[in-house]
Amino acid sequence: MLKIRNLYKSFGKVEVLKGVDLDVVEGEILVIVGPSGGGKTTLLRSINCLERCEAGSIVINGKELFKDGHYASKKELTAIRKDIGLVFQGFNLFPHRTVLENIIEAPTRVLGKTKKEATESALEILGFLGLTDKANNYPFELSGGQKQRAAIGRALAMDPKLMCFDEPTSALDPSLTDDVANVIKSLSTQGMAMLIITHDMDFAKKVADRIVSMNNGIILEQHIYEVAEND
Ligand code: ATP
Repeated sequence: MLKIRNLYKSFGKVEVLKGVDLDVVEGEILVIVGPSGGGKTTLLRSINCLERCEAGSIVINGKELFKDGHYASKKELTAIRKDIGLVFQGFNLFPHRTVLENIIEAPTRVLGKTKKEATESALEILGFLGLTDKANNYPFELSGGQKQRAAIGRALAMDPKLMCFDEPTSALDPSLTDDVANVIKSLSTQGMAMLIITHDMDFAKKVADRIVSMNNGIILEQHIYEVAEND
């Protein structure tokens, strides 16, 4: 689903990604942990075309997003980006729109769905996320865990093949992280690939099929899950 080879990215003279290799297969939950400043967020942003890389390649769902300094055409990029959902730290919900309005925004604007079609799918997603009764509430009326699930719902409405999460539990009470872990696990059983960055090792152990560490711009191809289990 996601194949990254020898990826390089610098900010000015500072090399942040220094030859990243990474694969995430369909239905897999891959968690990246590692020290602050190691390049995790930059990697996630690069996959989502929010940063431009200099060398290497990124292939998503068989489509080449970036290869050796060249990006796919604008039209191709738009198609590729539909396959990726991104849930940021801090939820990225529109504060002045209800949960339902937040979820139907991208499908109507980007995919050209009618409001009726988008609403039907949004209500299904809200049911799956256990948020049906919050459809007409505004984000400020939700708990942290509900906001996080609504943000996941927003990304799911685009029916992505790969979901990326940047610190999905950072704003959550520890008791709510199980909610998020359960949602992520049940999505992966439907075949969606998940790429998660976190500092929360308990959450990582709960949710991951595989945990890798990123340090100093490199993914250490070391599967640290078993090690972590024996902590
Ligand atoms: P954390 O776990 O603290 O979120 P991280 O592993 O996600 O860290 P990044 O945020 O990717 O690390 O940052 C990697 C390095 O790139 C850091 O040294 C950071 O200062 C630098 N960096 C990130 N974004 C920029 C930018 N826009 N301009 C210049 N340097 C940047």
